[in-house]
Amino acid sequence: MKSLLIINAGSSSLKFAVFNLPLTQDSLSVYRGQIDGIGANITFVAKDVDGKVLLDTTIMAPEGSNLEAQHQLSLERLLAWIEEQHIELAAVGHRVLHGGKEYCAPVVVTPEVLKVLEGFIPLGPLHQPHNLRPIGVLAKKFPNLPQVACFDTAFHRTQPWEAQTYPIPRKFTEEGVIRWGFHGSSYDFISRQLEDVLGKEKANGGVVIAHIGNGGSMAATRERKCVATTMGFTALEGMMMGTRCGTIDASIVFHLMNHYKYTPEQVSDILYKESGLLGVSGGFSQDMRDLEASDKPEVKEALKLFYYRAAREIGSLAVAAGGLDAIVFTGGIGENSPVARKAITDYLTWTGLKLDPELNKIRGKAHCIEAADSKVAVAVIPTNEEWMIAHHTFTLLAL
Ligand code: ADP
Repeated sequence: MKSLLIINAGSSSLKFAVFNLPLTQDSLSVYRGQIDGIGANITFVAKDVDGKVLLDTTIMAPEGSNLEAQHQLSLERLLAWIEEQHIELAAVGHRVLHGGKEYCAPVVVTPEVLKVLEGFIPLGPLHQPHNLRPIGVLAKKFPNLPQVACFDTAFHRTQPWEAQTYPIPRKFTEEGVIRWGFHGSSYDFISRQLEDVLGKEKANGGVVIAHIGNGGSMAATRERKCVATTMGFTALEGMMMGTRCGTIDASIVFHLMNHYKYTPEQVSDILYKESGLLGVSGGFSQDMRDLEASDKPEVKEALKLFYYRAAREIGSLAVAAGGLDAIVFTGGIGENSPVARKAITDYLTWTGLKLDPELNKIRGKAHCIEAADSKVAVAVIPTNEEWMIAHHTFTLLAL
């Protein structure tokens, strides 16, 4: 049997999933796992379809090996493990941050395409080089193994000009300082489920999809196409997140540098890694489960700010979508926290939105959670970014 390998490579981690062919609507990944701690203590965990741990080990990198070598070693270990499971790969699908303006849809990676994608590294220096690294390594090792890239930015290319443009001098806009938007594979997946869950009319109306996890963003769709999104030039803008600040006054950056004398790298760490729920809770936690279980006043304030800002983003997106027919919650928090869904939608009762408390408690499947007399539909739809990438790889290569 042949299989697809799906790779999501980051700066210090490599997440993977394996799907058997042929891929169907209901296909589950037969294996999934993660290599973490690349650059420090590397761990390798692999699980089967039921979540049973098949492998939990460390990868010993040779003394003094650099990050590049450790990434390569990690990928090689993954490939060796895959071979041990007697998996024959038909193709590999990759999550890639940036497709620029060139790629509004997934693409089969050729050496020419890879060159273009490398050109986007300045737009996403924290992710793009790491996303592309395994593509290059695999292309060298297995030149005949087809590879497909699916982009976080692609879904958002249907936004109108005014949704993509920052009010800054045109020169920068022309050179790519625009609202790119991210989490594209998740929105792609959810937008394909909308009709089944909401019915055709609402699915094609003004829908706000809230992908709320450790990182979080929202996208407004009409006719199931993106018309606006909260993340911007980078994944720092928009909602308050686990450790990221979301939208703040850009002058705060100058203040941190001029008044507190932080370097650009330190400011970046503060806004990406020390802000959001973690920062406002006074360093308590970024994890929603810990936060919901705490009585600390700072934690309560952090949660209040989180819900409030999420609701304000929904208001803004409803304007961009020309109305609000439905809200869809997804991502780790969106799918699993009835408390967060209630707290966020409580700010929207003036729209005629009402939740059904019993439906809001149900977990684990796509379903609607609004009350019978609610004027706005509210749904929970579990996302599946790996399946989405597998689907594009399967269909694009006509496997
Ligand atoms: P990432 O952005 O890293 O992919 P996830 O989508 O996995 O993040 O979401 C992680 C978040 O989901 C964490 O804040 C976690 O606490 C939260 N979460 C997961 N399960 C629950 C739950 N049962 N109740 C509340 N929050 C949850």
